[in-house]
Amino acid sequence: MADPHSSSYLWHPFTQMEGFSEERAPVIDRAEGVWLVDVNGRRYIDGVSSLWCNVHGHRHPGIDAAIREQLERVAHTTMLGLSHPPAEELARRLVALAPAPSPREQRDRLRRVFFSDSGSTAVEVALKMAFQYWQQSSDARPTRNRFLSLENGYHGDTIGSVSVGGIDLFHSLYRPLLFDSYKVPAGAVGAVARALAEHENEVAAVVVEPLVQGAAGMLLQPDGYLAAVRELCDRHDVFLICDEVATGFGRTGTMFACEQERVVPDFLCLGKGLTGGYLPLAATLTTERVFDGFLGAHEDFRTFFHGHTFTGNPLGCAAGLATLDAFEQERTLEHLAPKIELLQQLLIDLVEPLPHVREVRQLGFMCGIELGATRNTPYPVAARMGHRVTLEARARGAIIRPLGDVVVLMPALSMEADELEELVEITADSIAAATGTAELQIAA
Ligand code: PMP
Repeated sequence: MADPHSSSYLWHPFTQMEGFSEERAPVIDRAEGVWLVDVNGRRYIDGVSSLWCNVHGHRHPGIDAAIREQLERVAHTTMLGLSHPPAEELARRLVALAPAPSPREQRDRLRRVFFSDSGSTAVEVALKMAFQYWQQSSDARPTRNRFLSLENGYHGDTIGSVSVGGIDLFHSLYRPLLFDSYKVPAGAVGAVARALAEHENEVAAVVVEPLVQGAAGMLLQPDGYLAAVRELCDRHDVFLICDEVATGFGRTGTMFACEQERVVPDFLCLGKGLTGGYLPLAATLTTERVFDGFLGAHEDFRTFFHGHTFTGNPLGCAAGLATLDAFEQERTLEHLAPKIELLQQLLIDLVEPLPHVREVRQLGFMCGIELGATRNTPYPVAARMGHRVTLEARARGAIIRPLGDVVVLMPALSMEADELEELVEITADSIAAATGTAELQIAA
């Protein structure tokens, strides 16, 4: 047993605390750009953009200034019954930026923005809105009270978002607490078609992570899958919820992943990069059709009875506005395209040839490097190979965090070419070191 009386009082998320204190995890004091600096002055390149959310780098002058300016006015006021300029303006900008239907399409655009404070709550909000719409709107269909979601999906850790999740390791234990949802294998259009044909009258919405299932280990969906799911949802008049908490804000090379298949969902869930990765803010965008389904006299109680204390926090909204400004002023997406190619080339040159790399998956700045004892067999779970790679990387000056034995690279979009090279070199060296040591141990 590890010493339970370590000097820290912290219980870390997604972390086995037994033995944790012996790892001497860095204690981060400050940061600049894509570099984190610990309390001892050691510098680390931030290879996962502080859990997939930092977009324009740390200490970005524009975002820092926007937060300071807002702080001079007010740090927080409630949105329950009140409003404030940063929320109004951010909602307007998000609506203008969100994937929009072409003029030929008979589709509602995303026009209403409901703020909350994490990716999980953005999804909870979409689930509850979709459900409530079918209970009470003028085209109510109250039997539509279930969701169709994908195997290996991940939408957050609250009970609703876990209910539509499909990663057994994280989710199966909680099953007795969860509501039932229909699950189909990801990437198979036929499975969605069959499930909707069979359960059309029971399904309120289909929930997907568009193009990439992030937490599953960066699993890529086949081209055309998202568009086909959209079409099926239309055919059955079932809502489509796109969870772009991970893929949003440029990660896949476009502002939103949905754009790549010209898909406009009925609900768009955003978080993480919305504030440049600065502050906890999330948003659920939906259509006027859905919004109208909640209108009525006070005593009809069609109100959406949901809202968090820090919903639409003004500092977060100010950071969000500055983040969108930076996308425009710095032409982030234009500069990203060649960097995506560079990253791809670096992975091909330095990582793919390593003997214990089973597969490298990449879309934009989302990468998963799957390790294995051989190209066809995984490592035993107890070997904690992904974690060992992380420790090797840390010793070499990079912060990365794996998903099981998938080493994830998810740099800030602002990471420069030389920094990308350094990150991939360290990653390759760390994989070689960790997997090489394991070989020696097995041989001994
Ligand atoms: N949806 C997706 C697709 C995610 O990747 C995540 C977090 N990694 C979430 C939802 C949950 O976001 P949060 O951790 O902010 O609750």
